[in-house]
Amino acid sequence: MRQLKVYVLASTLYWCCCVAALAQTTLSNATLKLTSQGTRVEFSLSEPVKHSYFTLQNPHRLVIDLPNTRGQFSVITERKTDRLVQKVRTSTPKKPSDFRVVIETRAKEDFTIGWTGTTLWVQFSDPPPSVPKLSVGQQPQRPTDIIIALDAGHGGRDPGSVGPTGTYEKHIVLSIAKKVAERINATPGLRAVLTRTDDYYIKPSQRPEIARQKMADLLISIHADAFTTPQPSGASVWLLNNRRANSELAKWLRNTEKHSELLGGAGKILEETEEDEFLMRTLLDMQTESSQQSSYQISKKMLSELDKVTKLHKKSPQHASLAVLTAPDIPSILVEVGFISNPREEKNLNWAAHRERLADSIHKGIVNFFRASPPEGTLWAMQKYNQPVEHMVSTGDSLSRIAQRYRVSVNAIKQHNRLKSDVIRVGQRLKIPQG
Ligand SMILES: [Zn+2]
Repeated sequence: MRQLKVYVLASTLYWCCCVAALAQTTLSNATLKLTSQGTRVEFSLSEPVKHSYFTLQNPHRLVIDLPNTRGQFSVITERKTDRLVQKVRTSTPKKPSDFRVVIETRAKEDFTIGWTGTTLWVQFSDPPPSVPKLSVGQQPQRPTDIIIALDAGHGGRDPGSVGPTGTYEKHIVLSIAKKVAERINATPGLRAVLTRTDDYYIKPSQRPEIARQKMADLLISIHADAFTTPQPSGASVWLLNNRRANSELAKWLRNTEKHSELLGGAGKILEETEEDEFLMRTLLDMQTESSQQSSYQISKKMLSELDKVTKLHKKSPQHASLAVLTAPDIPSILVEVGFISNPREEKNLNWAAHRERLADSIHKGIVNFFRASPPEGTLWAMQKYNQPVEHMVSTGDSLSRIAQRYRVSVNAIKQHNRLKSDVIRVGQRLKIPQG
């Protein structure tokens, strides 16, 4: 009996020494950051190690093993996370001396992984828009669809305003944004993108960035109003005020790296030649002014549609300093669909049929504006000005899908473009024969 005890103790000691000798590295923290390119998860370690990783499905996840490492961190859960990453947690490694971390993502995401000093980072990127690279002197290529970014306000830890019976603004506005998106996507020539698709938080200043990445032609932020007394009611539409627009312009002007992003081809040319600050300022000025004019026009169209389905709180567009509306290159408006603090309007907003009506009117406002002034290069512009219709191939397109969309046959498209096979590539422009 005594002998056995000694043996057990000795073997325990031996095992402890082994692990202690091997596990020299410690992981002290895991953090999640939202960047303009997507989401970055960082692990702080005492020293870099030779990591290995693999991916799994259901749910989609990235598993990283860190050899001879010990550590702990607070699990990053869904409530705190963002549109790409769902959860960051630990798991049991195959080798007991390893430390295993798991990053769960909402879908199959592209990522890059690497070290900066003793920090292991994983960068998940928003899918880049499928647009061919621009060379100097070429007309910028744009998708033939007009792209509408719908921004449901608040989300995640930020509920927005809360109604008298406990209705959360964040849920109401996401529901309306999704209904508007359905209507847009059912309209040929229009395509909707959502800044958030679920209940998670995005900073207001990041929302125009997302819209730009998705190549949006318009950003509509959807909110519900609130006041300290229950009386105020009705919808309103908001634009960026001039003072904020000017201070944003000055900020963009200082940020030279952003110039070509904002000005497309023109910015690129200026960047490659001697950059002329006066010219740059003029171009950015013109762009801001044109966006502001479009924002004003669309606000008017939106108000006249909203007027048909709900009471208006203000009959003309209102101006404010709002971070979500600061893109100088994308017309941007904010729609307050009603006062959630008003008991009658809270009840209406909880009623699906009322939200459908609001979505209808927002959709009509968008259609009315773009029918009158479609952006150059879009299907709607081609139709309005009787130009030959062209389709730019984007990811996921096939000849049969394109044919279906324009209600022509696959063969007609092939003949019209002298295609020998069914193979098409992203960025290719196909002439669409007229029915
Ligand atoms: Zn709000």
